[in-house]
Amino acid sequence: MASLAAVFRRKLSGKVFHVHVMRVRWFSDSASGSNRIEKILVANRGEIACRIMRTAKRLGIRTVAVYSDADRHALHVKSADEAVHIGPPPARLSYLSASSILDAAARTGAQAIHPGYGFLSESAEFAQLCEDKGLIFIGPPSSAIRDMGDKSASKRIMGAAGVPLVPGYHGSEQDIEVMKLEADKIGYPVLIKPTHGGGGKGMRIVQSPDEFVESFLGAQREAAASFGVNTILLEKYITQPRHIEVQIFGDKHENVLHLYERDCSVQRRHQKIIEEAPAPNISDDFRYHLGQAAVSAARAVGYHNAGTVEFIVDTTSGQFYFMEMNTRLQVEHPVTEMIVGQDLVEWQIRVANGEPLPISQSQVPLSGHAFEARIYAENVPKGFLPATGVLHHYRHVPVSSTVRVETGVEQGDTVSMHYDPMIAKLVVWGENRAAALVKLKDCLSKFQVAGLPTNVSFLQKLASHWAFQDGKVETHFIEHFKDDLFIDPDNLVLEKEAYDAARFSAALAAACVIEKEHSARKENIPGGNGLFSIWYSSPPFRVHHCASSTMELEWDNEYDISGSKPLTLSITYKQDGSYCIESKENSYPALEVRATKLGNNDFRVEVDGVIMNVRLAVYSKDQIKHIHIWHGSQHHHFKQRIGLELSDEDESQHKPSFETSSHPKGTVVAPMAGLVVKVLVKDGTKVEGGQPILVLEAMKMEHVVKAPSAGYVHGLQVTTGQQVSDGGALFRIKE
Ligand code: ADP
Ligand code: ADP
Ligand code: MG
Repeated sequence: MASLAAVFRRKLSGKVFHVHVMRVRWFSDSASGSNRIEKILVANRGEIACRIMRTAKRLGIRTVAVYSDADRHALHVKSADEAVHIGPPPARLSYLSASSILDAAARTGAQAIHPGYGFLSESAEFAQLCEDKGLIFIGPPSSAIRDMGDKSASKRIMGAAGVPLVPGYHGSEQDIEVMKLEADKIGYPVLIKPTHGGGGKGMRIVQSPDEFVESFLGAQREAAASFGVNTILLEKYITQPRHIEVQIFGDKHENVLHLYERDCSVQRRHQKIIEEAPAPNISDDFRYHLGQAAVSAARAVGYHNAGTVEFIVDTTSGQFYFMEMNTRLQVEHPVTEMIVGQDLVEWQIRVANGEPLPISQSQVPLSGHAFEARIYAENVPKGFLPATGVLHHYRHVPVSSTVRVETGVEQGDTVSMHYDPMIAKLVVWGENRAAALVKLKDCLSKFQVAGLPTNVSFLQKLASHWAFQDGKVETHFIEHFKDDLFIDPDNLVLEKEAYDAARFSAALAAACVIEKEHSARKENIPGGNGLFSIWYSSPPFRVHHCASSTMELEWDNEYDISGSKPLTLSITYKQDGSYCIESKENSYPALEVRATKLGNNDFRVEVDGVIMNVRLAVYSKDQIKHIHIWHGSQHHHFKQRIGLELSDEDESQHKPSFETSSHPKGTVVAPMAGLVVKVLVKDGTKVEGGQPILVLEAMKMEHVVKAPSAGYVHGLQVTTGQQVSDGGALFRIKE
């Protein structure tokens, strides 16, 4: 055992670094008696359910999935040995239904339940129910969950254990007058937090004393609605913080250790999007003290199994403070696994089974650097609102010992409004931070999704930003560098550059689409009757020796919320099989393009003598053909009206229009698909500009729809409990 770190290093110096294969020997491998866990029910869905089952399988443990009506065909169901239906799509009727899940465990004879993260993972009652039923809850004792579930109580425990706390008020007194005095004492800005919060919900920053009362009441309301408890705590708001958390692990024999830290500072809506381990730009001394504090925190609550102690680091003073402890496996646990070469789910299962930790603190290896990027179905320019839709095309880089893709969906699946909109986690390892970052950017550029908006290109921008490259991360990173990360529609130079790049890609896409239709026709497969069928009427398939035509496209620039831009290509077929393609909108010189089809989505395209590999995805929806193209690190999305056959003659007669909205002018539409959870005004009410009108909820996120201007609410068509689709009409404002 003592030579573990040496073994690890030796592995590193070898040709291939097998992060996954490197594993420590568990003491009780030979001693596993009749109590050994043989079947685990995974009370979760998506990537985490798949990830847990992968480890269970490797350990020879059978798996049971649970699923709601929305997930009958989901990947986690296919990955399990057995699967039990537990209810309708809304989580509170299925994945949050303790009784249905316990019933499923009883029916299948599972001895243990792994809760994953989210859902019931931090429910002390559920952990207790499992214990009562003689089931092993693969997680901490219910007492620790209870202690840590209340941020105020956990702060009191941590303070007593000598763990540094953010200056603040975490007492039981909730009287607004008293709280106000406490806030004044702390000094503004002050952060108001629900004591039982999670997912960044309900927190409010109070900049000055006169804002306190309103923010306090708002936070109370939101906390009551989201967490069922309206208690609040106050903290000094740290203006330039980093979020650094420590992975800890304990067994049932009072051994506790930490597995180093993760930096999760890059966040949007108080939620992490890129995480890394170890944290960049911290000293060994700082790392040591952070680890010690985390272990003290875990010991203070008699912890066992996986946990995360979150700290907030004030970058101006260099001081770190305890923020909260998450009593579960964390979304971003893979970055830790990559740098310590361990499988934390295996540790969880073994510890739950009573086995002692396999190594001691001094034997925990630390090697290289890892990043995780969370790939979400979301609308970045609309303020990162969750998106829904079908994954018409979904490809990612091949996984290896240094690249992991944790996903719970497959091409053809639907991302619904019921659950978290995360599509996948991309996890990469490199010998050092710079190497890992190069890999991250490369893998992101090869992550291809078509059918719904994602944050992939935003993640690419983040990863390429100089400040991120330098490890200058803090929680306001995105806000701070928004000018670099979002394309400003008024920046004409950038705008032109982007438009030019789109036109170039459109030419490649056009050549590929024509080639695709051509070969479909030759092979007599459906889909061959596209726009350019005129060229392929046989015999011979190209009727005109030098046919010319026009392709009317719309460029869907995901950063431009004002809509898509027209892009008209004039295409001339040349006798040598190439096309001369020119864009009408600008002076971009005509390109000579030749496309060769390599596979269903793969093409080799030669443009003015330069050969490149191109990936193409085409699907149709609502009378519009969507064309996606990826080449190099570029991805573009074009739209084309279906059923429009353009040729030299009728070119001028048809002008496709993408004005699909049929709503009357001035209609306020739903910015995302979701459930109407609250309608705050009646139809006909006089409102101020910016006044909240209704609240939508989708995928654990609430979004307040406000009046765009002052006037009377008119034609309010929705009621509480109603489902609305993205772009669905909500109301109008009449002056
Ligand atoms: P992490 O630090 O691991 O990202 P979060 O608390 O942000 O922790 O969320 C972890 C997971 O827990 C999320 O991906 C989600 O599935 C679930 N979750 C968190 N908060 C909520 C909430 N308020 N409502 C429903 N699910 C939540
Ligand atoms: P949650 O349970 O919702 O994860 P946390 O207490 O972990 O709540 O806080 C979530 C995020 O809010 C942190 O990652 C950090 O970005 C920010 N935050 C929390 N506390 C403070 C604070 N005192 N000052 C500044 N930012 C904070
Ligand atoms: Mg947190």
